[in-house]
Amino acid sequence: MPGSASTTFPIDRVLDHVRAAVQRFADAAMFELAAAGYRTVFHQLVGCVLSIRTRDEVSLPAALRLFARAPTPDALAALPPRTIDRLVHDVTFHARKARQVRDIARRTVDEFGGTLPCDPAILTTFAGVGPKCANLAFGIACGGAGISVDVHVWRVTNRWGFIAAATPEQAMSALERVLPRRYWVEINRLLVPFGKHICTGLRPRCSTCPVLAWCAQVGVTEHR
Ligand code: SF4
Repeated sequence: MPGSASTTFPIDRVLDHVRAAVQRFADAAMFELAAAGYRTVFHQLVGCVLSIRTRDEVSLPAALRLFARAPTPDALAALPPRTIDRLVHDVTFHARKARQVRDIARRTVDEFGGTLPCDPAILTTFAGVGPKCANLAFGIACGGAGISVDVHVWRVTNRWGFIAAATPEQAMSALERVLPRRYWVEINRLLVPFGKHICTGLRPRCSTCPVLAWCAQVGVTEHR
């Protein structure tokens, strides 16, 4: 079974502390996108594709620019890829993503009558959409329970010793075994800002971390 997981880690208490700690930071991009009114499966999926390997500070404004110009699948499907590319020019792999989001829009119109279904298995059939984006869209737009594991969720839960997973994909399987379902959507919302500002990739802020008492600090060799 890929990735191992701890069943004794006090996840409720740790997440309570993380929840309090991240209140002062900006929400993860997809949740901000939903708060801005773009909460459908289509909008969440397009926003998530744009966010891949791109900082929230860049991908969120790009998604908002794109939706301001083309707020519906029909409108986005009608835009030439070159125009989409210009609107999202600062995200990573923008030319490829421009084609991918246009394809999402076209298939949404042609195959699904303008409304994407709440089905992660269908959502992962789109080019550029993996389990992370499919689960996030499923969770935010549909209220479904799917764990979206990005680099922050993967890194932080490994450092805690809650799971031991070599890849984000393995982390998703491991978390599905030990994380209570009530946290499956929220974990991304909490650990993205926690990973960006506290449990950072390099030199995490362990000395002031609110969950130091429960953290195994796996793999942490240098910290602040
Ligand atoms: S104690 Fe350090 S390694 Fe553990 S969660 Fe906090 S910042 Fe991350």
